[in-house]
Amino acid sequence: MNFKDKFSLKSIELKEKRVIRDAIHDYIHIDHVVIWQLINSKEMQRLRRIKQLGGTHQVFQSAEHSRFVHSLGVYQVIRKMLEVECVNEYLSDYDKLCVMCAGLLHDLGHGPFSHSFEGVFHENHETMTVRIILEDSEVQAILTSVYEQLPYDVASIIQHTHPNHILIQMVSSQLDADRMDYLLRDSYMSGTTYGQFDMSRILRTMRICDGKIVFKESGVQAIENYILARYHMYWQVYYHPTARSYEHLLQSIFLRVKDLCDMDYCWNTKLDYLLPFIHKQMTIQDFIHLDESIIMYYFREFMKEDDFILKDLSSRFLNRKLFKYKQLKNQGEQNKIEKLSQKLGYDPRYYIISDNQKQIPYLHYGETGELNEIEILSIDDELSPLPTKSEIVSAILNSKQYKSDKKIFFPKEIKDELSIL
Ligand code: CA
Repeated sequence: MNFKDKFSLKSIELKEKRVIRDAIHDYIHIDHVVIWQLINSKEMQRLRRIKQLGGTHQVFQSAEHSRFVHSLGVYQVIRKMLEVECVNEYLSDYDKLCVMCAGLLHDLGHGPFSHSFEGVFHENHETMTVRIILEDSEVQAILTSVYEQLPYDVASIIQHTHPNHILIQMVSSQLDADRMDYLLRDSYMSGTTYGQFDMSRILRTMRICDGKIVFKESGVQAIENYILARYHMYWQVYYHPTARSYEHLLQSIFLRVKDLCDMDYCWNTKLDYLLPFIHKQMTIQDFIHLDESIIMYYFREFMKEDDFILKDLSSRFLNRKLFKYKQLKNQGEQNKIEKLSQKLGYDPRYYIISDNQKQIPYLHYGETGELNEIEILSIDDELSPLPTKSEIVSAILNSKQYKSDKKIFFPKEIKDELSIL
């Protein structure tokens, strides 16, 4: 018998089980040595210094929670899924361990102010997560100490290549532990109620059929509610224009740093933590060292630099003088604003940014592959895709008119001039 078949979770149980009190899940239970060790690894602890929501706390001021607490939450939702009778019976103890680790570790590769940073330095957070799990890290050593193959099995769940689709679905699909935790947590922490839905009901209707996770027909309303919750959270919270404005300002600062390095600008600030990213020679350790506290320190230092643009953008950032915005009707309007910006001495490369946000509430077959569909199990054991069982989801799909929002962002000084024009 090989290791995977004979492995039992009992053998790695903690002598003294731990609980962590949580605002969303009440208690998060830690039953196994390896999970406790992973939580205490430096790569996981780093996530305390990275906010879950980037710029959202500039609008919803209380949404300051970290990626650390979200990761614990995802792990707890996975635990709950494993308690569902059919899932519990279907999966081996080794698979259960793999999926609990994958849920806990799935966000390890997020950088500071994730999306703005990724946009400029082209570091993909999923690729980074996999590198941290497989390369030189405490997490890798902890996983390997259980079984040398474990890091690879955990990584393959995150990469969507694991042979058991159920494990992938639990961590990342249209109805997964990640989304369930972030919707509940982000809505609670932001003080909005859009993201609330009945998670216990959804979990109770979970079944396994044809090697996939499916849901009983009696769960359809709870799932509709979850899909709408997500849709509303996107428009009311995640895509809020003030949060976007903050991210654009950040992105402009990172872009200016990169451009100055390319121009051989003479720095007063010691850029040690950023240089590996600029020169694209980043090790896992360089990545781990970079968090939001370091970046904040840099922004303070940049205010003392000789470069006007960097100094100005950093000061706007730290003092919350965010860019203003307006709806963008056409390219002509953007050209007009860019010209005005140049006239006023603001380089449009950093000071004029437009974006177009779109959110697709539900993906049907063929859009990203069959695995992604939420499937419903009828009383007579027939499987059908969610839209055929839900008039609401089908109406959203048929409208084909996904809401989008095109905006242009610029400094207040330009807005004042625009209103005079
Ligand atoms: Ca996540």
